[in-house]
Parts: sequence; C-alpha cells; structure tokens
Amino acid sequence: MPAALSSATLGYPRVGRNREMKKALESHWGAQSTAADLHAVSEAVLVDSLRAQHAAGVARIAVGDHTLYDPVLDWTRRLGCVPPRFAHLPALDRYFAMARGVDDAPALDLSKFFGTNYHYLVPEIDAAAAPRPDFADFLDMIRLAQDTVGNHPVVPLVLGPVTYVHLAKLEGVEAKDVLAKLLPVYAQLLAELKAMGVKEVMMQEPALVLTEAAEMKDLYQTAYKALAEPRLPLHVVTFFDSVDPAVLSWVVALPGINGLSLDFTRGNNLAALKEMTWPNSLRLGAGVVDGRSVWTDADTAPPMLAAIREAVGDGVEISVQPSCSLHYVPIDVECETDIPKEIRSRLSFAVQKLDTVVALAKQPAGSGAKGAQMDQIVQDAITDALDEELFVREPKFERRRPQQFSVPGGFGTTTIGSFPQTKEIRRVRTQFKKGNLSEVEYHSMIDKQIGFCIGVQEALGLDVFVHGECERSDMVEYFGVKLTGFAFTKNGWVQSFGSRYVRPPIITGDVSRTGPMTVREFKIAQGMTEKPVKGMLTGATTILNWSFPRKDISHEKQAYQIGLALRDEVADLEAAGCKIIQVDDPALREGLPLKHKDWAEYLRWAVRAFRLSTSGVQAATQIVTHLCYADFEDILQAIDDMQADVLTIENSRSGDEMLRVLAEFGYARDIGPGVYDIHSPVVPGVDAVAERVALFGKVGLARERVWVNPDCGLKTRKWEQVIPALKNMVAAAEKARAK
Ligand code: GLN
Ligand code: ZN
Repeated sequence: MPAALSSATLGYPRVGRNREMKKALESHWGAQSTAADLHAVSEAVLVDSLRAQHAAGVARIAVGDHTLYDPVLDWTRRLGCVPPRFAHLPALDRYFAMARGVDDAPALDLSKFFGTNYHYLVPEIDAAAAPRPDFADFLDMIRLAQDTVGNHPVVPLVLGPVTYVHLAKLEGVEAKDVLAKLLPVYAQLLAELKAMGVKEVMMQEPALVLTEAAEMKDLYQTAYKALAEPRLPLHVVTFFDSVDPAVLSWVVALPGINGLSLDFTRGNNLAALKEMTWPNSLRLGAGVVDGRSVWTDADTAPPMLAAIREAVGDGVEISVQPSCSLHYVPIDVECETDIPKEIRSRLSFAVQKLDTVVALAKQPAGSGAKGAQMDQIVQDAITDALDEELFVREPKFERRRPQQFSVPGGFGTTTIGSFPQTKEIRRVRTQFKKGNLSEVEYHSMIDKQIGFCIGVQEALGLDVFVHGECERSDMVEYFGVKLTGFAFTKNGWVQSFGSRYVRPPIITGDVSRTGPMTVREFKIAQGMTEKPVKGMLTGATTILNWSFPRKDISHEKQAYQIGLALRDEVADLEAAGCKIIQVDDPALREGLPLKHKDWAEYLRWAVRAFRLSTSGVQAATQIVTHLCYADFEDILQAIDDMQADVLTIENSRSGDEMLRVLAEFGYARDIGPGVYDIHSPVVPGVDAVAERVALFGKVGLARERVWVNPDCGLKTRKWEQVIPALKNMVAAAEKARAK
C-alpha cells in the first residue's frame, strides 16, 4: 500500500485581496490611522488568507510570514538583533525606522531575497550583539491562526537560524559565533511553541540550495543539534533550486528533523532522489506546484509527483506543496476579466495553486505516471534558426569607435535617460489611459515636456541629450504593451518590498514588434536640437526578468524573441537619424542563478540577446548600455562580451575602484561611471564631482573613453534638485577637461 499523500503550504500573499495592507500602511505612515487600526487590518488580512487555505482543504497551513513590512525584519526584531542606533525609539516606530530610516538612524539595507524580485531588510550583526527574544507577536499570530481554523493543524513557519545568519551583514564577527548566540533564543521559541500545543515547526532554510551550502555543514549540524533539544519535530524547508546531492546526504540526517521540503520546479532534485534512499521517517515536502510562476501546473505537476513517488518508494509520506511561499504570485486570477479566457484558463495565481495542491494530494498512486501529455506549444521557428551573423557586431570596436560621436578632450557629459516624473506628467498619462485625452492632445502634452527637457539640457550644456522618458511609467511595461505576446493584470500585485507592489507583465505568447515603439519621441526630441539625442530602449533580459515568463519555451528563446523585436527598433531609430542608442539592462546582473555552476549558461544567452538587439547597426552608430548596479566584478567577461561601445554603471559609492577593476581586466571600450548618487536629494558640489572625474583620468584610461553622467535615471528626483546637480556636473567635467 503506497503511503497516503498529504498537503501543505509554505506561505501566502500578505497584501490582501484589495491591497488592504498597502493602504493601511500608507495611511498609518501619513498619520491618518493609529497603530491599532493598522494591526486590525493586518489581522483581518491574515484571517482571510488562513480561511482561503482552510477552505481549499490544505492539510497543514503554514503560518508565520504574515508581516507589516518584511518577515526577515520581523525575525530581526523577534530575535532581538536590532542595531543600537534604533534602540531609543518606541516599538512600532523602531520597527518602521529599521525599514525606512529616520533622521538620525538610516534604514537597514534592502537586498534581493535569494535572486527573487522580493527585497528583504538586511540584518546587521556585530560582535556586541546580544540577542534578546521577543516572540509575543509571533505567538499571537499562531494563536490567532489556531482560533481561525479550529482544530486544523497550523504549522508555525520560522526563518531558520543558519539562513538568518547567512542573510545578515556580519561586522567583525563570524557566522558560527553569531549562531551560537542565536541558538538558545531559537530553542526558547521552540519550547514556547511546544507549550502552546504546537506539534511541528517549519524551518525555512533556503541557504541550503546555494553553492555555499557545501561549506555550511558544521553550522547546520551545530544548529539542528541544539534545536533538537526541545523535542519539537522540525520540518526543514528549502526552495528556489535543488539541494546538491552531497549536501542532501547530510541534510536528511540532521538531528531532530521529521521532514524536508524540496523544490521540484527548479534545479534537479528528482535526479538526486533517484540516486538515494530516502529515510522512511522523513516526510518529503514535494514542491511540485510552481510558486514563482503564474502558469497552471496541470501539465507538469502530476507527472513530477508520480516520478517522485516512484523514486522514494512506498514507505515515505509525501506532502504535496507549492514550491515556495505563494507570495511571489498574485492572489486570484478570476478577477482578471480583461485577460482573454483562453489565456486566463491557463493561468494560476495563489488561490488556483491551492486548488491544484489539494487536488494532487487526492490522487491515487500511479496516476500521472505516464506523464500527462505536456502541451507542446509550437515553438517559434524564427528563434530556432537564428543566423550566427545576427549576433556579431562588425567592424571591431577599434575600427568603429573613431566613426562614432565623441567629445573633443573627453569627459563627455550625458544622463541615463529619465527626467523628473512630475505629478502633472503622471496625470497626463492616466488621463490618456482612461480615454479622457485624445491621442493628438496626449502627444502634444508629451512633446511639450520633451521640449522642456531638451531646453534644460541645452541650457546646461550637456553633450549628449535624452528625450526624458516622460511617456513611460515603467521601463518594462512601456515596451510590453507595445509588443505582442504580453498580458497585463488589473490586480496582479506582487510585493517588491514593504508597501511597494508591482504588477509584472505576463509573457503569454511569441513576442514580436508590431511597429516602432520609441521613434516618434526620438524624432520630436532630435528635431529640437543640434546635439545628438540618445535612443532609449530596455534590454531583452531586463524585460524578461521583470516579467512572468512562459514555461513552454526556454528563457533563452523568449529573450531572443524580445531581442529580435528590439533589433528592429534599433534599426528604425538608426534610420530616423539616431546616432547613439542606449539599451538598458539593469536586471541582467540580478537575474544570475542561485548556483554558480549555472551562471555561465545564463550569461551566455543574456549577452547574446543583447548582441542580437544591438549588432545590426552601422559602425558609426554608438551602442550604449546601462547596467545600473556596480556589483559587477564577477561578470566582467560577460560585460565585455556585450560589446557595447559605452558602458554606464553606478559608481557613486566608490572612488575609482570600479575603473581600476575594469582597467585591470583590460576593458578597452568607453565607460560612464556614475559621478553622483541619484537616490539622494543632495546636490553634489562642483569640486567633489571634478575630483572624482579627475580620478577616472588617472586610472590610465584615455579621457576620450570616459563619460560623465549620474548613476542612474532622474525620474524620482525633483527638477529643483536635478538642474543644479547637472549644472555642477557639467562644470566639473569642464574643470577636469581643462586640467
Ligand atoms: N533609462 C532608465 C532611466 O533613466 C534606466 C533605469 C534603470 O537603470 N533602472 O530611468
Ligand atoms: Zn540605473
């Protein structure tokens, strides 16, 4: 008799069906509601999500990642790892100060959570840290959950100690010493949960899927040995990739664990399962329902589950689960009535994923074993047969660069693309979207704004202009709505951080261009000035990484489809007289896979997609790219392989290290290191910028190779800040040039 299947969840969206949490937070921050009001909304949203999971019939409902801002921050507070600079503040203020900063205490850093587009607040721990537990809110949450779903098992979801320490920024202290301090605190939590009648706890340990996990064996063994003491069964939860077989062999033997959850939608956990003997005492959490995809799992999950059952044999209890928390997908696809029914029926958000999990858990053994026929959607023949020539830029940089635009004496000044997005601009765009403005009226307003931007740049004396991007609310959405193959949701909000939510576009089919997307605005801008205006596009990898991709064809193919569409746009811009074309790829670095071994393959196609977009141009047309974050040392070769004529990159927080690294590598093309931080309202002084620019000159780069620009686009700034800042930047470049 094969063991029965059960089901579980690993977390749920916490925004509320109507973004109640976002609204409650913002009203609280605006002093329009009390802390009690905020907690009441938060509780109501949690209760609603518990009821949804209960009603769907999930056997073990995970509770614990519901939050006012960020679950990692919640653990920082609960464990008592609050940095001293926040200590003087009263409780709730202290919590939000850590998230958002106050005058005398800057916020904790934000960082991407294990390669997702969710950002967590990075704990800061130094040698003086003396963790002190405060679990009241967590225990209350568990009690509320128990009350809400009656006798139904709820399973507390805890951020595991080793992963917590891994996520933290450690200052002058080693992981093992921090862990030693934290373990008694964790043990106390487990004891308190046990006293409440809790039967089992989920420990999230996604650090186990990292390449670095191989070196974390001692940490894990120490930790779980210490936590085995309260004798509360622990279910270790991993997600986002597979656990390497060598790591898996010691994870299944960790003391005190009664279960282990694995992600079967990414990496290759199935192969490892087939090679090993899974201990009968260990429940296997089978993450077969993809918690990071909005597509139905109907085709993939049943055969995967069947294969898992076959691999582990009859004696093992299997729990059917989402691969991770469902907070990476929106709540309910049923409200997306604008998405055509044929597409909607293949989409699956949190509510639908719950149903899939429960339905799968009811499956008799053997079903799905033959492999439900995978929907073979016709693959795009075009991207299968791309000519290699399309990826090659000719002639070589040394030959083409002299034909391109350059500033005599070097240190040419420019900006990264966007200018301030004022209330007025936003209003104009919304009115047009609502149909309250005709296209002619709308264009005339946009053109007026472009004219303003050009006038400002003229007055400032910049060398290379931009049109200002005032027609774009978002650098991905703007292109998505113009290309075929994208769908947009009305209510598909996914948390980026805190009260910030985004609605990622969904790639639903083959992507192609139906006509020029940016040429009109370029022409308007270029028509107003003698200075060269940069064409401004978003790169294929960034469009892909900030969307929900298809699952029926590879990411590589999707990137090439977008790349081909961009290639046509580049050609049209060039034909319209554009001499400098910038293709932004800020998400290229972010999209790196969790495991180092997978980097090369990802970078291969991401770089090729960039070249596919940009290598069709004349020698005299200058291709610029903007990669945003400066964290690039480990992808230098890939950046070089992009073959952009100019590379602009964030650099405000370092001196000339970035240029040194590039020079040491032998990077020989033009570089535009950001000379001031656009995230700060502070206007940089002429001398500060001039000094920095002069530093660049000393690295050994010909000054003709160095461009002077801000770190990133200026859309979040005010004109009152932008104008003096750029004025100083231009003066600084002149000063540096004169030296
Ligand atoms: N061109 C874009 C802008 O200026 C680049 C944005 C980005 O790098 N994230 O807004
Ligand atoms: Zn940027």
